[in-house]
Amino acid sequence: MQVVTRFAPSPTGFLHIGGARTALFNWLFARHHGGRFLLRIEDTDRARSTQAAVDAIFDGLKWLGLDGDGEAVFQFARMDRHAEVARQLVAEGKAYYCYCTPEELDAIRAGQKAEGKPTRYPGIWRDRDPSEAPVGVPGVVRLRAPQEGETVIDDLVQGEVKVANAQLDDMVLLRGDGTPTYMLSVVVDDHDMGITHVIRGDDHLTNAFRQYQLYKACGWDAPRFAHIPLIHGPDGAKLSKRHGALGAEAYRDMGFLPEAMRNYLLRLGWGHGDDEIITTEQAVEWFTLDNVGRSPSRFDMTKLTNLNGHYMRNADDARLVELLAPLLAAKLGHAVDADAQARLLAGMGGMKERAKTLVELTDLAAFYARRRPLALDDKAAKVAADAEQMALLSEYAATIEAAEWKKDVLEEAARVFAEGKGQKLGKVAQPLRAALTGSSVSPPIFEVMEVLGRAETLGRIADTTAKGRP
Ligand code: GLU
Repeated sequence: MQVVTRFAPSPTGFLHIGGARTALFNWLFARHHGGRFLLRIEDTDRARSTQAAVDAIFDGLKWLGLDGDGEAVFQFARMDRHAEVARQLVAEGKAYYCYCTPEELDAIRAGQKAEGKPTRYPGIWRDRDPSEAPVGVPGVVRLRAPQEGETVIDDLVQGEVKVANAQLDDMVLLRGDGTPTYMLSVVVDDHDMGITHVIRGDDHLTNAFRQYQLYKACGWDAPRFAHIPLIHGPDGAKLSKRHGALGAEAYRDMGFLPEAMRNYLLRLGWGHGDDEIITTEQAVEWFTLDNVGRSPSRFDMTKLTNLNGHYMRNADDARLVELLAPLLAAKLGHAVDADAQARLLAGMGGMKERAKTLVELTDLAAFYARRRPLALDDKAAKVAADAEQMALLSEYAATIEAAEWKKDVLEEAARVFAEGKGQKLGKVAQPLRAALTGSSVSPPIFEVMEVLGRAETLGRIADTTAKGRP
């Protein structure tokens, strides 16, 4: 049997962190088994579904690298097929028309509530002759659900879960206007798409019982279910926006790498011994549902950030430059030209060690891409306004005009120069940093000089020492 999984988001909002994890688990499970991972957009709630949300979901999945196999299925477009199944069930006596009016149902519910009983449809039309149907009342189609015994699901995460059938009433499959209900659509689609494993949040566990009954009524094999515990906030409460319940694009904008995000999402509810760093290749090799935990996981931004730092340090330099260029262009307000890109590439080794996110890297790297003359921050401006320091910098610059342009050579020259002046190396490094980076923090400054190259270095120094002159 080929494994077929699916991710079936409702496009009423962005791809949030819980959805992204569900997608990842389905994707990994399918890849692990050499199966297929399908996408289905559950857009039957016409009032709340939007194209913007559909786009955000596709974008988020693409960014995370969770590619689906084949075209996505749109649930609303399959409405006729769903309705056809309901009518077939009626023809087979497995479902029936119910003509209760909303007022009647309200009254029944109110009565049940008053008696402290659970509100359930009491099967009024279950055995009534359809010839008794009132004129002008559009009937709904209800499943003739089993009333005795129990429905048992052997959930791959939760274990055996069951419900007494007496607790489930005859659910509506088709509304009075002929539109299918969510429950019907999900079952028909999962069946038609050949889904073998339904992996989703455990907020859908109660739906699974009704869905299971519907599969049986249709004479279909139910898929295996795996209901994963939800993600909570760091304080154990339900995940909220404050905790990080944001869309995938928000994480991209915060500067996280997709591979770090995948690793982090994987660890939210799944484990492989004590391993924290798990590459996607390893995850595909190791992922099974046995290792999905049974208690809710906690979302922890600090962990995600640290994990991202790991992936940043190990990322390919050229790829980081590519990711950085548009961020820098947005920050600086001008394109990052080829010279600047070459500098970023040469300086990446020294920078990626110091940044945990692409946003931090952008801040750190901006000086390599800035155009002359550099704007100086407050601290650097103070240094530049100090005539003595600027004079020292000019003199040092004169000593290296013809030097071999290597960081060790430049540093040694600075050391010798400072000693000659009876000064510490820092006395040269400080104005140098101000002039070359426009700030008081940077990667090691002689490395910066080597990366900037002779012309750019001397040019930036000249700009600043000229500025500093009275
Ligand atoms: N559309 C449902 C949701 O977004 C998922 C349904 C399912 O996975 O069965 O929560």
